[in-house]
Amino acid sequence: MSVIFPKFIIFVKKQIMNLLNFITQFPDEDTCKNKFKEIRDTEGVICAHCGGKDHYWKKDKWQYECKKCKTRTTLRSGTVMHGSKLPFRYWFVAMHLLTSTKKSFSALELQRQLGHKRYEPIWKMLHKLREAMGKRDDNYTLSGQIELDEGFFSTEIAIEGKNNPLKRGRGSQKKTKVLVMVESKEVEGENTKRGKPRIVGHLKMQVIDNLKSETITPVVESNILKDSLINTDDSTSYNKLHEIVNEHKSQVIPKEKVGVILPWVHITISNAKRLFIDIYHDIKPKYLQSYLNEFCYKFNRRYFGEFLFDRLLVACVSYKNKFR
Ligand SMILES: [Zn+2]
Repeated sequence: MSVIFPKFIIFVKKQIMNLLNFITQFPDEDTCKNKFKEIRDTEGVICAHCGGKDHYWKKDKWQYECKKCKTRTTLRSGTVMHGSKLPFRYWFVAMHLLTSTKKSFSALELQRQLGHKRYEPIWKMLHKLREAMGKRDDNYTLSGQIELDEGFFSTEIAIEGKNNPLKRGRGSQKKTKVLVMVESKEVEGENTKRGKPRIVGHLKMQVIDNLKSETITPVVESNILKDSLINTDDSTSYNKLHEIVNEHKSQVIPKEKVGVILPWVHITISNAKRLFIDIYHDIKPKYLQSYLNEFCYKFNRRYFGEFLFDRLLVACVSYKNKFR
């Protein structure tokens, strides 16, 4: 079941947890483990065997034991860390860096910072965290007035063989299609305080295989509340949207008007593109969604400040739980 994103909740904007606070709060492996357990206790442990919710804590083993069937659950099991051998502190550092930096962090950079020998586990860890972000946002639907359009992101296709006529040592580029949906309210008067023609809310970006109406319509249906108003250009990709939402406003949009009618889809697309080029350089098509998940997750929580770290921790702990 989906719920709508909470409407423009503005947290009192606090400072992002800075590096010194992070080190003070989590100086070692034990403090990270204890914090993870504390969040897990709050979110609830579900027995994988019988679905039981009541557990004893076996302190000597650092495991939960189901009161009904005695099945043991490790602290990591069923969370984003399931199957990972990396220290809790690595995960905490990664979560801190992902939530405290305005942009992001590449796996290579994180590997260097952690001084870890192998690249792959670090790369996997970051993708798991991005997956947890995506899962969290999947629980929510957009509502109200929505801007909708497609973006085309450059991604890399690896070419086999040495004699690649396109670009030596690298893959060729292709454009991966992304459906962008963003809550965007009209402003009374001319512009917002920041000079934008509409007020932006929450954002979703979804990789799609093609621009056919039968591809786009179900994606919109599962991401946007029925009782919404969608603004688009007059593309035939959108000719079924009126069947699934309250109102669909399709109009011919001359180039010079795009910034007024659909400002936020285009601002978010160009910000995401710039960020991806700066940090990751080349992205393979199958990983694009993962980077988009992180981008949207952070965009949708841009007012959370220091709460962002704890919220990501909750998303990681309840990775497999049903959304409540
Ligand atoms: Zn059980």
